Amino acid sequence: MTTLVWFRQDLRLADNPALAEAFARGPVLPIYIVETPEQSGDTHPMTGASHWWLHHSLKALDADLARMGGRLVILEGPAETALEQAVRATGATAIHWNRCYEPHAIARDTRLKTRFGDEGLSVRSFNAGLLHEPWELETKTGGPFKVYSPFWRAALARPVTPPLPARSGELIAADGLGLPLEHFGLTPSRPDWAAGWLDLWQPGEAGASALLEGFLSGGLKGYGELRNRPDLPNVSRLSPHLHFGEISPRQIWAATRLYTDLHPGLAKDGDKFLSEIGWREFSYHLLYHFPDLPAKNWKPAFDAYPWRDSAADLKAWQRGMTGYPMVDAGMRELWATGYMHNRVRMLVASFLVKHLRLDWRHGEAWFRDTLLDADLANNSASWQWVTGSGADAAPYFRIFAPVGQGQKFDPQGDYVRRWCPELARLPDEFLHAPFEAPDRVLKAAGVVLGKTYPRPIVDHAAARAAALAGYEAVKEAG
Ligand code: FAD
Repeated sequence: MTTLVWFRQDLRLADNPALAEAFARGPVLPIYIVETPEQSGDTHPMTGASHWWLHHSLKALDADLARMGGRLVILEGPAETALEQAVRATGATAIHWNRCYEPHAIARDTRLKTRFGDEGLSVRSFNAGLLHEPWELETKTGGPFKVYSPFWRAALARPVTPPLPARSGELIAADGLGLPLEHFGLTPSRPDWAAGWLDLWQPGEAGASALLEGFLSGGLKGYGELRNRPDLPNVSRLSPHLHFGEISPRQIWAATRLYTDLHPGLAKDGDKFLSEIGWREFSYHLLYHFPDLPAKNWKPAFDAYPWRDSAADLKAWQRGMTGYPMVDAGMRELWATGYMHNRVRMLVASFLVKHLRLDWRHGEAWFRDTLLDADLANNSASWQWVTGSGADAAPYFRIFAPVGQGQKFDPQGDYVRRWCPELARLPDEFLHAPFEAPDRVLKAAGVVLGKTYPRPIVDHAAARAAALAGYEAVKEAG
């Protein structure tokens, strides 16, 4: 009665219904399948930074399974062949997995369920990645939600299933099956752009739990306001752990509620934090109901927007060399750590699509490659939100002023000084706008514009006017 448990975006042992139900049946073989985009049909594959995380997360899961007397068997795709191979080697009579919601994953899993079900295997899937399935929440008239607030109100009206504890059971090893993790070359070597990342991050279930605990006791107080400050440690940084399923939203929900029950003064901050988990749920709801979200403007009128084409501007943005310190700090934080604070993500995204008038899909692709938390649902929904083309999106005409955003959310300049050290000696007054500093101030700070730090690649007022002019085409098409 062996069950194959196919781990995917649920790389944990606790609150893992596919695994718990498999242990209830009998012996379990835990497997992971590495598929190429061609094999999985994934048109928006996760690449660079995500691969680094995946490598370390699989390693952590294998170590956790080893403590229970088993191991993680890693197989090469396509999934169908890998599953066949594992069924043959073990005589498994069941396959369990927790659901994924990316369109290619839904198509693949549907096919595999039929294929192995037809052969008499018991194939079962479970919800482990969301508080509520995307099809469980509906508007009063019966369709999907397109606006966040009523969506989240509907979600809050439903009970959240309590998380399952980690279960133990019999694991089988299937000697000879699978390939070593190193075979898949998921980590960079030349150059090793991820050097030092293990000092910043602890991929795996233990790292996720420790981070949540530390955030609740150290970062939650004041989260409602301070979550906007990239210079302060008041966000959880749980996003890569959530993407890879090392912790579940149900676990976060239960732990946060428990913590705020014990510390009632933090109830509001706790609600705000859970409402951000709600934005993640909303992104998945949108992706499930509108599978074109990663590729097409959700509002078709935006097809008429006259995007520019400039490889040089795109490169300046990617490298953090736009001449606007807050934008550059964000892009450099991303490159150096695989993460960027949400407030700064909104600013750099707005800068790309509005100041530079480059298509949001360029930004989506760059984030997908460089973010450790790159997530099809969150990334595409967020890019479309900033652009104005998405569901319940920020209006296009709200254009972030990069200098003002810096002054407001990095008031002492700690964030900019950290990521743009060449500006560190500028006084606060000019830190977010070095191009406005008098020559003697620049000289005293050792800044030579155009040499040690770029001049702005666009003028804010002119860029704003051009962006609004471009928007006229969308208004006409709408
Ligand atoms: P916290 O503030 O601690 O929030 C807790 C969790 O809530 C996050 O881990 C995340 O899962 C969820 N969350 C928070 N804010 C949002 C949001 N606005 N939308 C959806 N979920 C949210 N998030 C990703 O996980 N992957 C992405 O690829 C991604 N791309 C983005 C692209 C752009 C242009 C923008 C503006 C935002 C993007 N986000 C993405 C959303 C958000 O920036 C990150 O989830 C958040 O910064 C992660 O940091 P944290 O875990 O410290 O957040």
